Amino acid sequence: MKMLKDAILNQGKAINEHVLLVDSFLNHQVDVALMDAIGAEFAAFFKDKKVDRVLTIESSGIAPAAFTAKYLNVPLVIMKKQTSKIMTGDLLQTEVRSFTKGTEYQLTVKRMFLPKGDNVLFIDDFLASGEAAFGALSLIKKAEASICGIGIVIEKSFQDGRKRLDELGIPVCSLARIKHMSSNTIEFLE
Ligand code: 5GP
Repeated sequence: MKMLKDAILNQGKAINEHVLLVDSFLNHQVDVALMDAIGAEFAAFFKDKKVDRVLTIESSGIAPAAFTAKYLNVPLVIMKKQTSKIMTGDLLQTEVRSFTKGTEYQLTVKRMFLPKGDNVLFIDDFLASGEAAFGALSLIKKAEASICGIGIVIEKSFQDGRKRLDELGIPVCSLARIKHMSSNTIEFLE
């Protein structure tokens, strides 16, 4: 997706060979026009998958997932990284290791927002090792729902998340695939 690749090249900053900073357009300041275009792109890619709901992880997945849900005209459900006193009832949880923080968190969603039998599209900002996506898959399985696709805004193809997901045979759409990066270059896979 050209608009996204341009934003990555013009505004992204590889802080080392493994981590890309995109806080000027994706996860701190948000380029809403770009998120809208990303949502339209995912919705077009997954239009035949009979998506019942879009699922994402707080907080960086919310912007692209919200526009995807808008274009597919389905609800958006946000999995939480932290629970609170007011989050009660029948909860589904699984442990996930955070790529950027190196710590574990309990990914949590209310069962009522992930109904049994629903076809779920998972959207996230980045795919690195695949831990977040596997956490989402684990909750979808616990809910007895089905995964019909995974949409990733930025895939770091030199890490093994994409390979792990491809082995499961799930349709994955990554809008920008980074082959290699360093402090002064970012190279994409075509
Ligand atoms: P994974 O679970 O696939 O290892 O990592 C995916 C999650 O880690 C994403 O939800 C994203 O928030 C975060 N993440 C992974 N790599 C990067 C990166 O290079 N930059 C930023 N900003 N976040 C990342």
